[in-house]
Amino acid sequence: MREARIPADGDAFAVSAARRDDGAHVLHSWSAIEMPAPTMVAGAQGAYFWDETGRRWLDFSSQLVNVNVGHQHPRLVAAIQAQAQTLCTIAPYHANPATSEAARLIAEAAPADLNRVFFTNGGAEAVENAVRMARLHTGRHKVLTAYRSYHGATAAALTASGDPRRWPSEPGAPGFARFWGPYPYRSAFHASDAREEGERALAHLANTIQVEGPQTIAAILLESVVGGNGILVPPDGYLQGVRDLCDEHGIVMIADEVMSGFGRCGEWFAIDRWNVVPDLITFAKGVNCGYVPLGGVILRDSIAASFAKRAYPGGLTYAGHPLACAAAVACIGIYREESLIGRARALGETIIGPALRAMQDRHPSVGDVRGLGAFWAVELVRDRATREALVPFNASGAAYAPMAEFAGECKRLGLWPLVMGNRLHVVPPLNIDEADLRAGLAIIDEALHIADRHYIG
Ligand code: PLP
Repeated sequence: MREARIPADGDAFAVSAARRDDGAHVLHSWSAIEMPAPTMVAGAQGAYFWDETGRRWLDFSSQLVNVNVGHQHPRLVAAIQAQAQTLCTIAPYHANPATSEAARLIAEAAPADLNRVFFTNGGAEAVENAVRMARLHTGRHKVLTAYRSYHGATAAALTASGDPRRWPSEPGAPGFARFWGPYPYRSAFHASDAREEGERALAHLANTIQVEGPQTIAAILLESVVGGNGILVPPDGYLQGVRDLCDEHGIVMIADEVMSGFGRCGEWFAIDRWNVVPDLITFAKGVNCGYVPLGGVILRDSIAASFAKRAYPGGLTYAGHPLACAAAVACIGIYREESLIGRARALGETIIGPALRAMQDRHPSVGDVRGLGAFWAVELVRDRATREALVPFNASGAAYAPMAEFAGECKRLGLWPLVMGNRLHVVPPLNIDEADLRAGLAIIDEALHIADRHYIG
């Protein structure tokens, strides 16, 4: 792994100018201008990134769970450079080889007859368009989505999200109703185990469909494995049950695989683990690891047929962007050649899962450990018996201090964590060195003494 570069004097000047410009001119996502300045990243390589002082961190967040092949993968960088020499951009009403090949490779990765790809610039736009497709296909308007979900920050995608990030943008787009999905550790159904949780969650969904009116429901939209809201792995049988309810009522099943897809869960798409075939898959992030923004919707033949003669009424200036698609072609090649899908599965089974469970034995504050592939959550509590969370739901400021302290300790020890609510999400690149992975897990183990300090059980 390349060592962090110590900046020369000239660089230091450039960095201070960059800091000044950032402070004066950038409004960062989900942030107030007067919040502490973000880390100014000077470079990144593999599973590491560093700031202008040469301080570097092991990236256990994969940024926003997108950098599945690590930073600056040479093959991915080269593919973007080569495409830039050939064709940087072209309007989406033209075809071009990069976009065509990316679509073929994505369709090959997708299950069954999901053979056609509609490209967007990211995940939220993918969800917007999947919802539009389902509405046009069925002639119905309503979409059911889960509490504890995130689907993006554009109008319909945010309305679809069962997440506090939605609240400031309410009232959102019309036509959405919500249900509870399975979450054995904090069951909405008073279930005593995962099997019962799955069954009760399905019964609840069936009831929700009845009272919402099946003939009004265009789609059920759900994350195959819930990501940002807690790495909630559905009990076996749950996704098949959702598929069956969709078939019974002529509802389009949309699997949001923006975070869980492209190897993160040890499968091309998380839903493959249960051999369930959705009607539409939304993707982004891991398709090309975000080296150039890209997302999209993969359509089953039956849905695509709705647009065989009728024009699909949606599009984006940069849809199927050649640079982004060339990156997707290279990225899918990397997944295949470096066997990263199977590697993610193996890392979860042999290293990450066992290490986190061992931490649960050592640290009282670790209430729950769950996940698969390179997609894990450690849920921190004040009391194992009551399962009181280490910080309250949607906490900020002083109420969030225990998690902020824990995250700060991880960073101090050289690991960049992804913390969401009362959870640490362990989501490193799929090609992380085994030694780095173990070193990162050891840092988490060490930092957990901070969480243990707040334990009251
Ligand atoms: N869907 C899921 C499951 C996500 O996790 C996200 C982002 O984290 C999105 C959609 C939105 O993607 P984007 O931020 O690319 O718009």
